Amino acid sequence: MFHDKNVIVCPDWIMSRKLLSKFEESHGHCTRDPWPQLGITRSSAPDRMGCLKLGDNVDRLLLDGLESIVEKAHVISDRAQMQNYLADETAGPVKPKPANDLVLVRPANTQQVSAVLQLANRHHLAVFPRGGGTGLVGGAVPTHDGIILSLERMNRIEIDKENMMAIAEAGATLQRLANTAGQAGLFFPPHPGDENAQFGGLVATNAGGSRAVRYGVMRNQVKALEIVTATGEVLSLGGRLHKNNVGYDLMQLIIGSEGTLAVITKVTLRLYPKFAATATIILPYSNRDDAMSTVQKILQEAGTPLAIEYVSRDLLEMTATHLGERWPVAVGNCYLIIIGAEASRDQLIPQSVRIREICRQNGGFEPFYVESQRDQDKILRIRSNIYFALKNETVDILDISVPVSELVRVIDSIEKIAREDKLFLPVFGHAADGNLHIHIMKREGDTPDHVKALRNEIYGIAIDAGGVITGEHGIGKIRTDKIQSCLAKEEIELMKAIKRVFDPNNVLNPGAKIPA
Ligand SMILES: Cc1cc2nc3c(=O)[nH]c(=O)nc-3n(C[C@H](O)[C@H](O)[C@H](O)COP(=O)(O)OP(=O)(O)OC[C@H]3O[C@@H](n4cnc5c(N)ncnc54)[C@H](O)[C@@H]3O)c2cc1C
Repeated sequence: MFHDKNVIVCPDWIMSRKLLSKFEESHGHCTRDPWPQLGITRSSAPDRMGCLKLGDNVDRLLLDGLESIVEKAHVISDRAQMQNYLADETAGPVKPKPANDLVLVRPANTQQVSAVLQLANRHHLAVFPRGGGTGLVGGAVPTHDGIILSLERMNRIEIDKENMMAIAEAGATLQRLANTAGQAGLFFPPHPGDENAQFGGLVATNAGGSRAVRYGVMRNQVKALEIVTATGEVLSLGGRLHKNNVGYDLMQLIIGSEGTLAVITKVTLRLYPKFAATATIILPYSNRDDAMSTVQKILQEAGTPLAIEYVSRDLLEMTATHLGERWPVAVGNCYLIIIGAEASRDQLIPQSVRIREICRQNGGFEPFYVESQRDQDKILRIRSNIYFALKNETVDILDISVPVSELVRVIDSIEKIAREDKLFLPVFGHAADGNLHIHIMKREGDTPDHVKALRNEIYGIAIDAGGVITGEHGIGKIRTDKIQSCLAKEEIELMKAIKRVFDPNNVLNPGAKIPA
């Protein structure tokens, strides 16, 4: 389909060749140094990204160029109409500010994505790939003048039952894929908290979620990707294969690249048989040490459940109140919430019994056990809404990842800070993965410097414990200055070199993932 980057192949685009020439006659090719973001050039001003002027009166010829690729109704320059595309779910105080001069483009197919990227690359215009906007680190926020590229119209899903795989276009949401797979009697395990996330974003962030304990993260599910490079080439990486050892694994490099190396247009995902029996078991403890010491025992002696979450009682009660509900467990100060999921009830019951024994042997109270879907959904709803209950007062959400053996020490250290500083610093997370979410909450009189110092202190605790600053949410645009705390200088240089190979003009999501 695509043969040569200099040959324009999209049928719509061929029709617009004349227009393009006219466009280039008046604007010329961009000659500015493309590397301001990577510190390769003396100039580092972000507004040097584009040589086309995308002013209040967004350049008419640019709009004509884009409208000749994508239907007019999907090229939007009116600020009011693009409001929903200017931010993501990043906490208010740390949310990056969107640029002023932006065009929103919603392509219908891969050829259109390719043609938009060719145009943008030729003129060194920044392109911000966008999924569901559920990211928590400003990754999709368009921070330079340029193009917001929303893949939402590309949302088809095909189920390949024979190979137990799904082929989803980048704009398909997690919710639709889970339902479509379910209707086919199959199951897609990863479940990061917000089902409005789209597959382009889920793969670009290598999302995790509570079920990673048994199935791993997004990169463990992806079998193939269709991508469009910054220069417009369409590539198919991987295949409907379980084993593939040909060449370097470029597919895995794109997974988690946060829109900086390529635009993902299609994803092939592994599916699994549906479970016939599930149960939710809440293990109550009076202290965290006992709760955490149970986690490894369960994994070693009872098999791997679908999820093992750690949450304190005060957070769950607060969230239940926020939802107008009641947290059903009356004992304990902290909990492990376990989801058991097996092929039959005959397998589920002995596992649940063993978990109960382990809980009791480790200082826990009598577990709270539910099997009815309604009761399980109620508990999960409360757990999933912690984020929303805290949202209005949250200043930043940290997402540290540490060895499981260090969890107790790490949470103790964070709670010590909270106690000494008289702060409300909620900590919860995916206990079996060593992945903790910490909400830094608003406090009267706190300055941005105070928040920064607190964040650095918590990052320091994670790194000292052999961990990293993010396990799931990624670096986005708000953590780039912190990656040198986890990576060697040489690693960062290699990453910058990879970025240059994939995106020679630094048009794809500038300012994200790696530092300037
Ligand atoms: C309530 C809540 C709970 C959450 N829980 C979890 C959790 O448990 N685990 C977890 O991992 N995350 C979680 N998240 C974060 C979020 O859902 C994930 O980061 C998600 O993967 C982002 O997908 P999206 O479609 O919304 O992407 P966006 O936010 O739109 O974009 C995220 C990044 O992906 C890039 N991108 C988007 N589409 C493409 C594409 N087609 N090609 C290339 N790059 C692209 C963007 O440029 C950006 O850098 C949670 C978020 C919320 C709001």
